[in-house]
Formats: sequence, C-alpha cells, structure tokens
Amino acid sequence: MEAAAPRSLVILGATGSVGRSTLDVVAAQRGRFSVAAVAGGSDAVALAKAALASGARLAAIADPGAYAALKDALAGRGIEVAAGPDAVIEAALRPADMVVAAIVGTAGVAPTYAALAAGRTVALANKESLVCAGGPVMRAAAAAGARILPMDSEHNAIYQALGDAPVERIEKMIVTASGGPFRTWSAEAIAAATREQALAHPNWAMGPKISIDSATMMNKGLELIEAHHLFGVPAERLDVLVHPQSIVHGLVSFADGMVVAGLAHPDMRVPIAHCLGWPERLTTPARRLDLAALGGLSFEAPDLVRFPALRIAISAMRAGGAAPTVLNAANEVAVAAFLAGGIGFSAIAELVERVCEAMAGAPSAEPGTVAEALAINDAARQKAGEMLGRLGLTS
Ligand code: NDP
Ligand code: MG
Repeated sequence: MEAAAPRSLVILGATGSVGRSTLDVVAAQRGRFSVAAVAGGSDAVALAKAALASGARLAAIADPGAYAALKDALAGRGIEVAAGPDAVIEAALRPADMVVAAIVGTAGVAPTYAALAAGRTVALANKESLVCAGGPVMRAAAAAGARILPMDSEHNAIYQALGDAPVERIEKMIVTASGGPFRTWSAEAIAAATREQALAHPNWAMGPKISIDSATMMNKGLELIEAHHLFGVPAERLDVLVHPQSIVHGLVSFADGMVVAGLAHPDMRVPIAHCLGWPERLTTPARRLDLAALGGLSFEAPDLVRFPALRIAISAMRAGGAAPTVLNAANEVAVAAFLAGGIGFSAIAELVERVCEAMAGAPSAEPGTVAEALAINDAARQKAGEMLGRLGLTS
C-alpha cells in the first residue's frame, strides 16, 4: 500500500510550551507530518532551533528587531525567514492541512482569525482569541467552513465527550480546575504570594502567563468563555469543578442523565495528539491511567471568595457584549505587571475588576469584527495602564 502523504502543519507559537510539546509529538511520528512554517514572538535562537528540528520551510518572527538574529541562525539552511506581525500572519496562511494556534495572549488573535477565515483547520490552544473576539472568530470560521479542534485540555476532553449531540441536549458542560498552587491557602497567604510561588503549578508545566492565570483561577474563567464560543452553550449551563488530581479534564451532562467525561494524566501531548491525528488516533508515550493505583479522585466547588478572578470572569461571561474582551485585555496587563514585579498577587484581580467596572458602559455591544475587538482591547489596555499609573504602579 502506498504511504499517505504527510499531513502538513503550520505551528504558531512553536517555541512555547504548547509549541514545543507539539514538535515532540510530531517528531515521534516519523513521516506522518511535515512542517510548512513555524512562528514565534522574539526568541530568534529558539525559533531557528524549532525550524531546523522540524524541517520547516518558513520561520516567521513577530519582533522585527529579531530578524537579523534569525537570518544569521538559519543562514545557508534553505529556510525562508520573515519578521514582523504580518510575517506571522503570512505563516498562518501558508498552504497547510492544519494550523496549530499556540501563540500566547491577544497576539494570537489576528493570525488565528486569518487562518480560520481562509478555511484552515485550526488546532486551537490560544484561548485568548475566543475571549477577546469569540463572536467574529467563530463567525469567520463558520463562513469559511473551517474546523476548530480544541487543544486546550478541558475543551479537548469535552469535544471528545460530546460526540454529535446537539447543544439543546446538553444540560451542563463542566471544565475541571486543579485549583492551582493556592487551592488550600488562606486569602491572606494568597495575597502575599510571590511570583515564584504563583508560577509553581502543581500538575502542569506551562508558559508564565497561563501559569499565573491558573494561580488566580482566571484561567478557568477564560476557559468558560472559550467553551461558550467553541460549543455554543449558554453561560448558565457552563460550570467549573475543582479537581486537584487533574485526571478528569472535562465533563458533559446530557438530558437523559448520562455524564460523559474525558480522563488522562495531565500531559498536553494527549490533547495535542488528538488534534494532530484527528480523526485518527496517534500513539503517545503519555503515562497510562491506572485508576486502581490512584485509588480515588476528589472534587470540590470553586471558592469565588479566595479566587475573585474567577468570579469576575463569570460576571463578564454573563454580561456578554464587550465585557469578555475588556476582561481579557485588563488581565493581560495585570499579569504582565505582576510578572514584572510591579504589583502584588491580589492586585491582579483588583485591577481587572476596576477596569471592567470603568468600561462597563462604553462600548457595551459585542464586537462585530476582529478589528472592533482589537480596538476595545487597546482601549482596555490603556485604561489598565492608566490605573496602574494612578496606583503608583508600573505597567
Ligand atoms: P508560552 O509562553 O510557553 O509560549 C508562547 C508562544 O507564543 C511562544 O512561542 C512565543 O514566542 C509566542 N509569541 C509570543 N508573543 C508573540 C507574538 N506577538 N507573535 C507571535 N508569537 C508570539 O505559552 P504556552 O505555550 O503556555 O501557551 C500558549 C497558548 O496556549 C496560550 O494561549 C495558553 O493559554 C494556551 N494553553 C497552554 C497550555 C499549556 O500547557 N502551556 C494548555 C492549554 C492552553 P517567543 O518564544 O519568541 O516568546
Ligand atoms: Mg486548560
């Protein structure tokens, strides 16, 4: 039998935590994938390494200042090099069977949107695309007939649990949360948490932004909004369940009383492999589940008092309109300020809430286009920056 042609991939955010795990899965599947393009933010050395290791034909870096370093690192290797935000979009639009959207933050919106609007199948890790611009992004995908495969572990589990059930047969859709490093901490201890403590996630090794989002539990709020757009389920049917072992990732409760859940050890290679191989299943070296050895799994309700970021995100989801876009922008500024040492841990949620309140009135309509969403994003970032300044804090 003739071997099938390799599935061609574009990997956006190839140098990050999800990007590197994607390249691991690809490398283990000899001959099954080819890489048309890789893209990154500013780390030229890491991007050159990813391009060489994957045999990519194009390496695109968002930071124009990193062009010379990338060109040097790839000199004589026959790999096309490009720089600037437009080059990342160009990479997203290279002919390919699948685009892995694994850029962190709102920087991922434009390339993810471009790929979907061009009808590409997108394996989506960049949840901020949907929190910032869920309506326009989903509409563009639908109009172009583009498929989105959820790579975020909770949404991937839910996608697998859903089968072809229509939305109206779903009573509850539940994303689980480990609870992060501060699950058992008092409010006072959480308020005094350091950067290192907040970055030390108990179950997952991830990039810095999502690690802080997990510590505040904002990540679960972003994931509820992500699920709302991905699956078209109304806010009141979406829930969070704290599950410290991170074995059950997502659950769907159907109208007939059946609950279907997706279980695996917390290893991003599992949802990544599901997306890359879809509709076939690849083999991964991920640890196999032994429920008897685990003995028990535990669950608890989230504590919205100790984790106000989750409460604020749920309010933004319920408010709809521009609120999720504002929430996402303010959170990005707050997390960056915390990581830079400018604000304390509890100031992250405080700043996000203040910005959401300050911008609750105008404009309140859901952004109709990605350009509108990015304009609201910019205005919210500016407001967050001003508030940091007024508080005597750096942004
Ligand atoms: P990392 O911080 O580890 O990696 C981010 C990637 O984005 C890097 O490749 C970085 O390049 C690139 N990047 C940053 N800015 C830009 C830009 N302006 N243009 C192009 N590329 C850019 O993040 P993660 O891998 O942890 O997360 C990526 C996304 O996946 C996030 O949206 C996160 O929420 C989501 N996700 C992550 C999970 C995980 O396990 N890590 C799990 C589920 C979802 P450079 O190296 O040059 O900075
Ligand atoms: Mg997740």
